[in-house]
Formats: sequence, structure tokens, C-alpha cells
Amino acid sequence: MSEVKIAIYPGTFDPLTSGHLDILEEACALFDRVVAAVGINPSKTPLFSARERLEMLRESVQWRGLSNIETVAFEGLTVDCASRHQAGFIVRGLRAVTDFEHEFGLLLANEQLDASIKTVFVMPSHKYLYLSSSVVRQAASLGGRIISGSVPPPVEARLREKFNF
Ligand code: ADP
Repeated sequence: MSEVKIAIYPGTFDPLTSGHLDILEEACALFDRVVAAVGINPSKTPLFSARERLEMLRESVQWRGLSNIETVAFEGLTVDCASRHQAGFIVRGLRAVTDFEHEFGLLLANEQLDASIKTVFVMPSHKYLYLSSSVVRQAASLGGRIISGSVPPPVEARLREKFNF
């Protein structure tokens, strides 16, 4: 019998974008189970609290109809969160080449921390290649509008609430 393949998809998700959701959907097709994990980094001050980020993630996963996903929040090392959830793989999204150096550094660090956990890169649809949470935050804060289709509806609702538009 083949072993169940579990992957973790960690991120700040401040907020979750359609690009993140695209990667999650792909991960769901590739793995038996996916753990989408909101990172809590005490040295960062995100726009949305960890609780809000987790709620947006849960609502968006439900909106998209993805069923083999568990949503969690975690503090500390990604490899430790992966081990707690029996995940043998870390999924990361790769957009343009600009992501590569940063992501490659993370891959090497994670491999040194736990060689049994492999990093897998997934590229989003071309529509999302230049989309980032920071672009969404900026657009929402400057004039209270967001780029159409850049976030799932549950995230758009939170942005409207936060920026009063
Ligand atoms: P982190 O702080 O861990 O980089 P992010 O929420 O910014 O958290 O991103 C989480 C992961 O999703 C990263 O691997 C990032 O490269 C990827 N990602 C972010 N935006 C997109 C996008 N538009 N398309 C594909 N992957 C993306």
C-alpha cells in the first residue's frame, strides 16, 4: 500500500491572495492532504492578526470548495510544524525569478534542519505571477480599492471592512 503524502503550505498570508489559493489548489491535486499554515512571527507587525489571517484562509478554502485541507496557525520553525502534522513536504510558491534566491535560501536552511522533509515549488497561473499580499495591501489602503480578482471574496470583505470602502 502506498504511503499517504502530506504537505504543508506555510505563509504569512497577510492577506491570502488568489495566487496563494492557486498554489493551494495545485497542492491539493498533488498531495493526499495539505496543511495550510499561517505563520506567526512575533518580530513582524502584519496588517491582519494571526486570527484574522487564519479565518480568511479557512473561509477562502471553503469558498473554493477544497476538501483535503487542514488550516492551522503556527509559531516557530516550519519543519517543526511539518513534523507535528506528519508532513513530508513543504510547498512554496515561485512567481518570477525574483522569488528564487529567497526561496532557495529557505530550502537549504530547511533541508539542514530536517533532511527528511522535501521542499516542492509550485508556479501559479500566469495571471498571478506578479501578485503579492503587499500589492493588495497597498492598493486597498491607497484609495480603498483592490485589483479585481486579486483576492477571494472572503478576503475582499475583510479588506472593505478594514479600509472602509
Ligand atoms: P512568506 O512570508 O512565508 O513568504 P507569503 O504569504 O508572502 O509568506 O507567501 C507564502 C508563499 O506563497 C511563498 O512561497 C510565496 O512565494 C508564495 N506566493 C506569494 N504570492 C504568490 C503568488 N501570487 N503566486 C504564487 N505564489 C505566491
